[in-house]
Amino acid sequence: MNIMVTNDDGIHAAGIRALAEAMAQLGTVTVVAPDRERSAAGHSLTLHSPLRVFELHKGWYAVDGTPTDCVNMGIHNMLPVTPDLVVSGINHGANLGDDVTYSGTVAAAMEANLMGIPAIAFSLATFEPSLHFAAAAEIAVQVARQVIANGLPPDTFLNVNIPDCPPGSMLPPLITRQGKRSFIGKIVDKTDPRGRKYFWVGSEEPNHNDEPGTDFHAINRRHVSITPLHLDLTNHKTLPILAKWQF
Ligand code: MN
Repeated sequence: MNIMVTNDDGIHAAGIRALAEAMAQLGTVTVVAPDRERSAAGHSLTLHSPLRVFELHKGWYAVDGTPTDCVNMGIHNMLPVTPDLVVSGINHGANLGDDVTYSGTVAAAMEANLMGIPAIAFSLATFEPSLHFAAAAEIAVQVARQVIANGLPPDTFLNVNIPDCPPGSMLPPLITRQGKRSFIGKIVDKTDPRGRKYFWVGSEEPNHNDEPGTDFHAINRRHVSITPLHLDLTNHKTLPILAKWQF
């Protein structure tokens, strides 16, 4: 197995180290990740400036771009062959519900999926300084083993959220759907030392709907949450409704 590992927290983050070390149980690992934190980069590509690559040590490449750039760069340049699997993470912080659209962690898996490569995004559901990346990485290996054994359905990649628990204390994985959060849109206004106003986005933990079957519901109960995602954002149920509009 050839496995490519990336993330959006940057190549120096604890989560990617834990993930890369654990994935070595399954095959040859190449790490291609942003040279700094690029959380909430979403699915952005760098189009208007060149990209540079720095080999930190054997098989570990830092790119001065986004997670999506890293997947492209890794597959087209650094990896000797197309990888059998792309894994992204382990993100420091959950990627649940609507947040998947902001996430660079999830977007990296999405990019690999676009290229027809099996892909999984992993996130540790805590914003506290985490102690349990190693336990989460073992869960990541279990999920990756299932993907390797069973394959993924067409146009599907996995968004896996892992509760921050000591080894052995988390509950088994649940297959979930993407939940919904109630975004309050909190922006804090402050004044800088030179008397000018500045604004800070996303300073508050948003609320969410704790509905059974969702990723939020699973994580709130210390289950690992596995959500199959695809890129088709069409709201299929509304097609017949809109088809009745008179133009
Ligand atoms: Mn992140």
